[in-house]
Amino acid sequence: MQAARHAMSLVERSGTELVFLCDEAECGRRLMIDARDARLVVIDPGDRTALHDGGTGGITLHVTAEPGVTTTRSWSSDEN
Ligand SMILES: [Zn+2]
Repeated sequence: MQAARHAMSLVERSGTELVFLCDEAECGRRLMIDARDARLVVIDPGDRTALHDGGTGGITLHVTAEPGVTTTRSWSSDEN
């Protein structure tokens, strides 16, 4: 089964906190990343079956979510 791919965009930036929103209106996935301690908080899970990619402002975000599988996620930042 091919999972849908959604792109995420940086919609809000406050200090070290970055908020990303999925471009798909029906999905609405929203994440907050704290660049200080590499913490990633899912505000709204959105469509859990979709793969979410996003890159903007030197930040690349890779989030993989599959049904019935623990969400794995990693992100990297060039802004060090
Ligand atoms: Zn999405």
